[in-house]
Amino acid sequence: MSLDAKIPGGPLEKKWDRHRFELKLVNPANKRKFDIIVVGTGLAGGSAAATLAELGYDVKAFCIQDSPRRAHSIAAQGGINAAKNYPNDGDSIWRLFYDTVKGGDFRAREANVHRLAQLSNDIIDHCVAQGIPFARDYGGLLANRSFGGAQVSRTFYARGQTGQQLLLGAYSALSRQIGAGKVKMFARREMLDLVVINGQARGIIVRNLVTGRIERHDAHAVVLCTGGYGNVFFLSTNAMASNVTAAYRAYKRGAFFANPCFTQIHPTCVPVHGTYQSKLTLMSESLRNDGRVWVPKNPGDKRAPLEIPQTERDYFLEAKYPSFGNLVPRDVASRNAKEQCDMGKGVGSTGLAVYLDFEDAINRDTRAVIEKKYGNLFQMYEKITGEDPYRSPMRIYPAVHYTMGGLWVDYNLMSSINGLFVMGEANFSDHGANRLGASALMQGLADGYFIVPYTVGGYLAGTQLPEVTTDHPAFKDTADEAQSRLDTLLSINGKRTVDDFHKELGLIMWEYCGMARNNQGLEKAKTLIQQLRAEFWENVTVPGSAMDFNQSVERAGRVADFLEFGELMIIDALARQESCGGHFNEEFQTEGHEAKRDDENFCHAAAWEFSGDDSQPQLHKEHLVFENVELTQRSYK
Ligand SMILES: Cc1cc2nc3c(=O)[nH]c(=O)nc-3n(C[C@H](O)[C@H](O)[C@H](O)COP(=O)(O)OP(=O)(O)OC[C@H]3O[C@@H](n4cnc5c(N)ncnc54)[C@H](O)[C@@H]3O)c2cc1C
Repeated sequence: MSLDAKIPGGPLEKKWDRHRFELKLVNPANKRKFDIIVVGTGLAGGSAAATLAELGYDVKAFCIQDSPRRAHSIAAQGGINAAKNYPNDGDSIWRLFYDTVKGGDFRAREANVHRLAQLSNDIIDHCVAQGIPFARDYGGLLANRSFGGAQVSRTFYARGQTGQQLLLGAYSALSRQIGAGKVKMFARREMLDLVVINGQARGIIVRNLVTGRIERHDAHAVVLCTGGYGNVFFLSTNAMASNVTAAYRAYKRGAFFANPCFTQIHPTCVPVHGTYQSKLTLMSESLRNDGRVWVPKNPGDKRAPLEIPQTERDYFLEAKYPSFGNLVPRDVASRNAKEQCDMGKGVGSTGLAVYLDFEDAINRDTRAVIEKKYGNLFQMYEKITGEDPYRSPMRIYPAVHYTMGGLWVDYNLMSSINGLFVMGEANFSDHGANRLGASALMQGLADGYFIVPYTVGGYLAGTQLPEVTTDHPAFKDTADEAQSRLDTLLSINGKRTVDDFHKELGLIMWEYCGMARNNQGLEKAKTLIQQLRAEFWENVTVPGSAMDFNQSVERAGRVADFLEFGELMIIDALARQESCGGHFNEEFQTEGHEAKRDDENFCHAAAWEFSGDDSQPQLHKEHLVFENVELTQRSYK
């Protein structure tokens, strides 16, 4: 199958306008004849479901949680980017586009990224109209702060709760449509499979997480907004329920999975403190606006931070990257923190941490100012660690945070299965090999409020869609398969818990496919995962029954998918014999230990096609064409 990204012709800045004009429209009176399934109600899904319903389509929305308000998007702290240029510091749509392409180490599609930058400003207008309480400056304009990988301030924020406030906006819009009867909300449902009929996505199979019943739902199109898969590492900053199941099941039904090995490791997280931990906590990137990152100059220096004089501190990011300083992109900051710790300069009891210090900022701006900007984040840090970050520096270390990989989509955000659209963190689109901070919220909302409402319409208007109901044999077969998988999991009665397997998988992924990778380690990880997966299907224990509220069975299904998907990540990492962004293969690095790309051979998105449980997936390459930016070695010096 050929990979056609369907990028419209014409100049970059006119492509989206032109495409919207060329997309077929559904007559307003006909929209109600179409049912659209939206899976996931985070920022991407919530905004899409509300907007599609507002347009007149009948929407069925699904989520795992008891309420859309509890989607993982609620955790987003730091902000959302837009090229408004309110601070008048030189921002523009072009600069946001350029920073994003460069930040992603030139592994994203130009046309998509430019559209994202264009739509960023519409998102802010839309959200302000919804009443999102963005921070404002003294004169009343919306305030901005800086995030990594940019030398302008373009991040809009609502203290450290930006995701929560944006989600409340999307949720309000969604609730209005639920009230109007245009959205039917199915909470506490987990999509277990996709139903494909004649090559078209026509429905989903879900498990009712309260009763355990398997349900079938049909539609004319399916929109997946099921978030990222960072929890394949077990420990991550993602919500506990974040998973890969919906995307992976769609992959097994024919949707290509692109760049699965592109994982973002965020530099500023509360360090791991023990083996019984199940969650890692992010300290927002916004803290790097004012916090200074340092380690002791001398390896093995175990003095308390306040006892180490300025002359014996190494502000390694400021020294190495004078232009961007502490605001280098995440992949760069993470690798440098690891490098310092590997040299024995790490701090804290494990030696796997660096300091993030606010002393200078407090002396300069006063504690009250710092508290106003970051108060809730400081409080969170103190609650977790028992240490007061106003008095002594935070200890931070990189942790898995975001996944740039996802289901491959074309310019319309449609996957390689007709009628299956994928949005938000679940798709691979706009961030290349490394996402810049505050760009995920921008992408999810651009997809949901402004892109999919047009492109789904274009698909529905231009496609023959035969009448299909849940009585179709494909629904029965797919539902039976989902049920029998659950029954198998429950029947194994082994000796190891699901979490135990998940933890081991996470350790393998972190060790061999984490911040740094090499070919030997990846080969080893592949074998280890295969062995672990085989043991899982012989020795896992899943208590309880399928026809009940049973979180063990939920987790078992998700971990079973992670055990397959982890191998796909390894295969992808092995196939990409270069370093770029978050994919750092130690065998490909510059003299300064930066990622060394190979544009001649790897300037592509790697889209994997499932070809059977026991076969190597097939690789399709979408060659990335750069007509507007020059491919350069990324430099933040
Ligand atoms: C701690 C933290 C802070 C962050 N801060 C920022 C920030 O400041 N700025 C920024 O831009 N980005 C930030 N991010 C990233 C950003 O929050 C996410 O990328 C984004 O919110 C993802 O939105 P989404 O709608 O794609 O998915 P999610 O919000 O993850 O929503 C997924 C939805 O899918 C549902 N779902 C999943 N699987 C299934 C299934 N099988 N069946 C049914 N439903 C399913 C879930 O119930 C949920 O409703 C942060 C991330 C973390 C972890």
